[in-house]
Amino acid sequence: MISMTHGTAKNKQQHYYTNNSGTPSYSSSSTSSSNSSAAVASSTTTTANNENEPGDFLIGYGAFGVIWAVTDPRTSRRVALKKMPHVFQSVVAARRAFREIKMLCTFRHDNILQAVDILQPPSQIEIFNEVYILTELMQIDLHKIIVSQQALSIDHCKVFLYQILRGLKFLHSAGVIHRDLKPGNLLVNSDCLLKICDFGLARTEELDKTKRMTQEVVTQYYRAPELLLGTQHYSYAIDVWSVGCIFAELLGRRILFQASSPLKQLDLILNLLGSPPLDEISSACDGAKSYILSKTWRAPKVNTLYSLSKNVTHEAAQLLLRMLTWDPKKRITINQALENTYIHEGRIRYHSCMCRCCFSASNGRQYTVNLEPIRGFRYDDSDENFSSLRQAKEYMHKLLTEFSQANTVPLRLNHDSPLYKTFATSQVAQAHELPPSPVAWDKF
Ligand SMILES: [Zn+2]
Repeated sequence: MISMTHGTAKNKQQHYYTNNSGTPSYSSSSTSSSNSSAAVASSTTTTANNENEPGDFLIGYGAFGVIWAVTDPRTSRRVALKKMPHVFQSVVAARRAFREIKMLCTFRHDNILQAVDILQPPSQIEIFNEVYILTELMQIDLHKIIVSQQALSIDHCKVFLYQILRGLKFLHSAGVIHRDLKPGNLLVNSDCLLKICDFGLARTEELDKTKRMTQEVVTQYYRAPELLLGTQHYSYAIDVWSVGCIFAELLGRRILFQASSPLKQLDLILNLLGSPPLDEISSACDGAKSYILSKTWRAPKVNTLYSLSKNVTHEAAQLLLRMLTWDPKKRITINQALENTYIHEGRIRYHSCMCRCCFSASNGRQYTVNLEPIRGFRYDDSDENFSSLRQAKEYMHKLLTEFSQANTVPLRLNHDSPLYKTFATSQVAQAHELPPSPVAWDKF
């Protein structure tokens, strides 16, 4: 049974510690207490109270929805309920929501967030305006961990970085570029298990290199130089740059390139990496190339990376610089990064006691053959090219109905819950929280 309380994420306190097995861990304690009744009910159960259940509460807001922590009445498992209220505002918004939902329902990997269920959409497509999706519940995200006062050891950094790379290897093997990797989109649970989330900006690799791709992707601080320089075509390497920024942020506990505008963002990159030779920014648009040439030549100051923290070893700095490379063609790939010796300790730690792919037996730990599995086939995006809102609704309705019917006991919102009104009126993030527009290089 799902119960609701008025507690919020602000009431939660996080603590990190290392458990007996040496695994970096995280625990949270919530001060929310009072129970009332459920936010979500199944079609075959009642909504009686259970005093022992934790309550439902608001976790946070994203660009596409509001997220609550609730209990799945069928399994009593805690899950996240995401409400996506404005998915049919435009064809573009509908397409992004469709990608997000379909990817959550499609990918099955321990380092990628997945859908548990979807609330059945109304049978009449005319009144179908909102989507409710249940996903695995994670306690915190990497951004909150980084800005917290709790200790973040080198072991934490390594095991987090390994899991980011492991999840990304799977995603890239499916032909998908995430396009918005940042600490806030990396969810973490109490055992330091990490899952990549938020696929609203994700898309498949564009195989036609003459086709112009949107540059309005990736939150500015994590945006690769080729995007800042107005490239027409980009690929998986933009995710690798973001991972580099996140890796540096884990080590230094501050945003590596934190500028107030895309131009200043570029300046900060120039300060660290120095002026790039023109052949390393060959995909930049003409205006951006002229801008780079107009700037006074700067020498790289990569030694400043060592001042990020005492956790920056030579090995860490070398890997970091392989990720933070001007030229996307020279930047390390996820597969190459996973082969780097720096990653080895994180891999061992993850598979020694955190993963679900290996197991302990009387004769010791039995490791799976393939520690970093790939999907093996490309994600099919052929069904997302709807051209009208009516068509978008039909496609979305079909997707949701198929997925929700895979569960034998369907779920519905519990309109009798005292917190239903609060939940129903929860709003989504404002526009300024979305990635800012790129530089208008043609006006330079
Ligand atoms: Zn394993």
